[in-house]
Amino acid sequence: MKIENSIQGVRAALNQARKAGKSIAFVPTMGNLHSGHIALVLNAKRRADFVVSSVFVNPTQFGVNEDFASYPRTLDSDANLLAEAGCDILFAPNAEEMYPDGRQQATTVQVAGITEFLCGASRPGHFTGVATVVTKLLNIIQPDMALFGEKDYQQLAVIRRLVTELCIPTNIIAIPTHRADDGLALSSRNGYLSSDERAKAPLIYQTLTQLQSAILSGQRDYASLAHAASSHLNKCGFQTDYVEIRAANLDSATESDSDLVILVAAYLGKTRLIDNLAFSLA
Ligand code: AMP
Repeated sequence: MKIENSIQGVRAALNQARKAGKSIAFVPTMGNLHSGHIALVLNAKRRADFVVSSVFVNPTQFGVNEDFASYPRTLDSDANLLAEAGCDILFAPNAEEMYPDGRQQATTVQVAGITEFLCGASRPGHFTGVATVVTKLLNIIQPDMALFGEKDYQQLAVIRRLVTELCIPTNIIAIPTHRADDGLALSSRNGYLSSDERAKAPLIYQTLTQLQSAILSGQRDYASLAHAASSHLNKCGFQTDYVEIRAANLDSATESDSDLVILVAAYLGKTRLIDNLAFSLA
């Protein structure tokens, strides 16, 4: 596996693959890779001739009081895991390479509407940071396809929207959430949890599955269900940011919607965890 730190370097390596007629799949990450990330790479390997992954802790998607400084950076072990998974190129730029004029680019990508609630409401500017860096990465790599995790459900919706509306010729592929045996969604932020917190964390997924069962058994008062679930999590030591039941396209859910998603964001101590469960009533 080649490791490229510069835009010029990764473009040159990709031109060779393209000239050889290879299809290119791209898996962007912030590193500290776990088996959820690697599942994306393995899936990319099955779909394309050539796989590029990136590791870049993007400063512009972190708020001022968030964990940018402490976010785990483990590039050497990430590179080993990617090489083992059969990744062809790791693109690992530094912040200067991606933002030569500093964080405050004159040009940003803002996706209106779907960024204005859920994580967008509690993390102002987050999705503009995500949309901008993903657009830059897609322009640098110009892949045929890019793979993203359903774990970041709203992020995936934002990326689908920007790719469609900005006419970016990349196919966006969603990969199901990888979980620990006890149901906790794998996340680089799980490493922040104390052992007590880690023992409690699976309650988020249990809450999602309980809500799903209640809905599947006919309950339709989504606001009350979500409110009760949020109170329960808070009684158990979480501080919920939101628990919401929405239509799969993230519009408010109505009784006529049959494709639904339940989304949770909750703090456990200082760690903010997110998870979701999408399902169909049909
Ligand atoms: P991150 O490094 O957290 O920015 O994640 C990079 C990519 O991996 C994103 O597309 C995430 O949605 C995806 N991802 C993160 N955790 C998981 C997981 N547990 N299962 C599947 N995909 C994941």
